[in-house]
Amino acid sequence: MKKFKFCPMCASPLTETRPERFECSDGCGYVNYDNPTPVAAVVVEYEGQIVMAHNRSWPGTFNGLITGFVDHREGAAECAVREVKEELDLDASTPTLIGVYPFARMNQIIIGYHVTASGLITLNEELDSYILVAPQDCLVWSSGTGLALRDFLRGRGIEPEMIKIS
Ligand SMILES: [Zn+2]
Repeated sequence: MKKFKFCPMCASPLTETRPERFECSDGCGYVNYDNPTPVAAVVVEYEGQIVMAHNRSWPGTFNGLITGFVDHREGAAECAVREVKEELDLDASTPTLIGVYPFARMNQIIIGYHVTASGLITLNEELDSYILVAPQDCLVWSSGTGLALRDFLRGRGIEPEMIKIS
């Protein structure tokens, strides 16, 4: 992951004062906490099935949840509704929180929601394909978004099969 090399406040070099913690060497007080970024991940239920989508930038054929970075001053649930509209052009119900999951590799916090959504699916430019999967046929994976899907399914009394993804 790319790191700041210089203080964004005063442009002095940053020094690592303890593992993974960088502070301004000039003593201006700046600390680069490198907090995880909040990401909303949405289990979108559409006509009784789950919308799984493939991001244009992903290699392979893996289909995942609808996700997006929480905007400046935006709530995570608002973000979930916005992303469903932007990426699928669907109108989402009020989101229900599934759970919150670490995703250390990407320094993200995954905030999992479930919505039911209506309308006609139209993908935006971020996605190039999608599939509709019956809940009982969903596969899950062991990173943050996969765990959100797993916990949603468990709430429906389904114990999904876990697959390995790279
Ligand atoms: Zn500084």
